[in-house]
Amino acid sequence: MSEIRECLEKGWTGLGFKTVAFEEAWRRYTGLPHAHFLNSATAGLHLAVRLLKETHKWREGDEIISTPLTFVSTNHAILYAGLRPVFADVDEYLCLDPVSMATRVTARTRAIMFVGMGGNTGQLPEVTRLCRERGLKLILDAAHMAGTRWQGGHVGGEADVTVFSFQAVKNLPTADAGMICFAEATLDAEVRKWTWLGINKDTYARTVGQEAYKWRYDVEHEGFKYHGNSIMAAMGLVALKYLDQDNAYRRQVAAWYDELLHDKIERVPVAPGCESSRHLYQILVENRDQIMLALNEQQIYPGVHYCDNTLYQMYAYAKGTCPRALDASNRLISLPLHLRLSHADVCRVRDALRKAVNFLKGTG
Ligand SMILES: *Cc1c(COP(=O)(O)O)cnc(C)c1O
Repeated sequence: MSEIRECLEKGWTGLGFKTVAFEEAWRRYTGLPHAHFLNSATAGLHLAVRLLKETHKWREGDEIISTPLTFVSTNHAILYAGLRPVFADVDEYLCLDPVSMATRVTARTRAIMFVGMGGNTGQLPEVTRLCRERGLKLILDAAHMAGTRWQGGHVGGEADVTVFSFQAVKNLPTADAGMICFAEATLDAEVRKWTWLGINKDTYARTVGQEAYKWRYDVEHEGFKYHGNSIMAAMGLVALKYLDQDNAYRRQVAAWYDELLHDKIERVPVAPGCESSRHLYQILVENRDQIMLALNEQQIYPGVHYCDNTLYQMYAYAKGTCPRALDASNRLISLPLHLRLSHADVCRVRDALRKAVNFLKGTG
């Protein structure tokens, strides 16, 4: 509250002030060299593809290999920039499978879009290696990965660009915001123009060099209205203080599920070496839809992350190309996982799930 009050009292709620402070805090927290604060991760993914395309002279219709098991904004972002999503299948972590990925590479493949599902790093190290070997760019959709570490370091350093989401339901919640972290300083400088309609205050200041002409600026190219504001940044600054503690509690809840659920229930594992933000705790069941309804009847409301995107009309051109993602899409449940969940609540979910599974078995 006091951070937001400070913005209001200062009369500075927009770009600058807290957005600069949050970018600095995020760089310090993650160890990433650059960070630019945005109004959403969707905007960030769009700019990630768009700027890499401009820089490396990719053409319309060039391809980015992506996962069908994600929130649609991941794949829409590829289309916004005039590129084509080519879908590769997922692995046991529900992340992009490097083996499947390798089979989808063509002469027009330019980049890989990797989604760290639920905070999991999956086989990101192997995907990174393949990208380097084949000269492909790596875009990391880290919407679920605020606070995820791999072998002790925060994720993001391996990618050409990493995009985080601070949307209301993510691990570091604001109301709506995101962060784009380019590896290269030139792209970080460039993206700051693109998030504010192509406006560049610096060039004018340089050429005219006078304080008196502060209101003059140059516009070098088109741009978008994608930058974040100080109210969201103020919320982010506060939430960041609790991120590690919150994620540790999420891992505790996950550990309770691991321990309490019946051995026969198939869990989505966390990759070795990954300290997951535990955005999600996912299991795979038969008769998923009926089990969801049975849980709802017991006032338990799990989620499904996600529906195989190739089942949607607009991505149907790739239908049937990713059988493992399709199977997961039909069987996935994300069990309740949040900071107010107690051990007793986890027991209640376990009991409700057991009841639902047994009931369905009984009715065959
Ligand atoms: C939430 C989410 C996004 C989009 O984030 P916004 O900040 O809401 O734009 C992108 N990818 C994944 C995997 C997400 O879960």
